[in-house]
Amino acid sequence: MKTYDTDVLIIGAGPAGATAAALIHKAGFNCMMVEKQRFPRFVIGESLLPHCMDLLEEADLLGVVQDQKFMVKDGAVFKRGDETCTFQFSQQFTQGWKYTYQVPREDFDKVLAESVEARGVPVLWGHGVTDVNFADDGSSTTMLEDEQGEQASITARFILDGSGYGRVLPRLLDLDENSMLPLRESYFTHVTGDIRPEGDGEGRIWICSLDDPDNAWMWIIPFSNGKTSVGVVAKPDFLARYPEDPDEKLRAIIDDNKNTRGRLKDAEFTFPVRRINGYSISAKKLHGKGFALMGNATEFLDPVFSSGVTLALESSNRAAKTLIRQLQGESVDWQTDYADHLMMGVDTFRTFVTAWYDNRLPTIFYSAVKPDELQDQICSVLAGYVWDHDNPCVRDHQRTVTVIAKACAQYG
Ligand SMILES: Cc1cc2nc3c(=O)[nH]c(=O)nc-3n(C[C@H](O)[C@H](O)[C@H](O)COP(=O)(O)OP(=O)(O)OC[C@H]3O[C@@H](n4cnc5c(N)ncnc54)[C@H](O)[C@@H]3O)c2cc1C
Repeated sequence: MKTYDTDVLIIGAGPAGATAAALIHKAGFNCMMVEKQRFPRFVIGESLLPHCMDLLEEADLLGVVQDQKFMVKDGAVFKRGDETCTFQFSQQFTQGWKYTYQVPREDFDKVLAESVEARGVPVLWGHGVTDVNFADDGSSTTMLEDEQGEQASITARFILDGSGYGRVLPRLLDLDENSMLPLRESYFTHVTGDIRPEGDGEGRIWICSLDDPDNAWMWIIPFSNGKTSVGVVAKPDFLARYPEDPDEKLRAIIDDNKNTRGRLKDAEFTFPVRRINGYSISAKKLHGKGFALMGNATEFLDPVFSSGVTLALESSNRAAKTLIRQLQGESVDWQTDYADHLMMGVDTFRTFVTAWYDNRLPTIFYSAVKPDELQDQICSVLAGYVWDHDNPCVRDHQRTVTVIAKACAQYG
């Protein structure tokens, strides 16, 4: 059996894992990544938010991403019947990036992970973590299995778990917790033949509301490779109204809505429609002696505001920096330095997600009386700047959203 030893073991080579590895390696500590699959591999989650650019830059990974010539995304367009609400990331309350990218994840994740590997971080591709044992001092021995069934083990001083939907440590340590959000499902594919808006708006994500009291919606995310990602998110009872076959279901839902039908009437699916459900999940704690969770292994809310990769990168940035200080001999408080910070951003997005589905946010979005200043504040949240406490939509997210929605409902 092969054995390895490292300061920091990083589980998963997705965006959370790769950016944490970049920062730890830059700080001069040994780390290694283990990744169950081989890249390129498909994963859903293709629309970034501008705050991702800050976090990629800090990990010295923005350059390799910019070299890929991904589709520039400078905003988001919400559509409900004949109504449209556009957010352009140049409308800022928080000073930050005015654009980001729409990224096929097989390309994006590969370029991040391979760039980190090229800097000297060892990656064990095709190795899945099967078990972890922690000693009293927090050091650990992790068991791995490769594609041929060969076993290996790694001893480490600390583990950062960026295993995404694999949720390695939450499963092994019984940390999974049900989400407060109700069960929704998603059906999605990539298409060719998307009739894109011409000019400036080409790269914007479209979020199209469907005819549903629970605010089911579809995304349209255009890539620079000529393909477009299309998906629906809804409760099971909405989806059950359409054909059972996934391809027929997605096609029928597209055809049922004037905004998606108009743009996707000639669309050809490039792979059979995939389905994912039960993705909203939380964790009882985000850290313990010898480990911390990052990215989707912490909590995943809902895709409506494309917050997943942004939260993955913020969590890996913060976890890596907290760990570097600890490895340098400083005393750190993982709860305040890491978990509480991360949850401030997660909680703002949670309020926005809840307010989307209970109709407060669409009421605000499509209101004619919404002041410009409010548009900027909301836009900065939608750009991922959810740690700016000068923004009332962050500082007092619950109350602000409720009060403004009431005013918009009253005055139009
Ligand atoms: C329907 C839907 C739409 C979404 N749309 C968006 C969007 O538009 N924008 C956005 O930002 N986010 C979106 N997301 C969220 C996005 O998918 C995730 O937030 C993001 O991928 C999290 O990155 P990560 O690095 O934490 O995990 P991942 O990218 O999932 O990477 C985890 C890695 O860990 C590896 N792994 C798993 N188990 C093991 C194991 N046992 N051993 C070793 N390695 C392992 C996996 O193979 C994987 O490569 C969406 C999610 C859903 C469900």
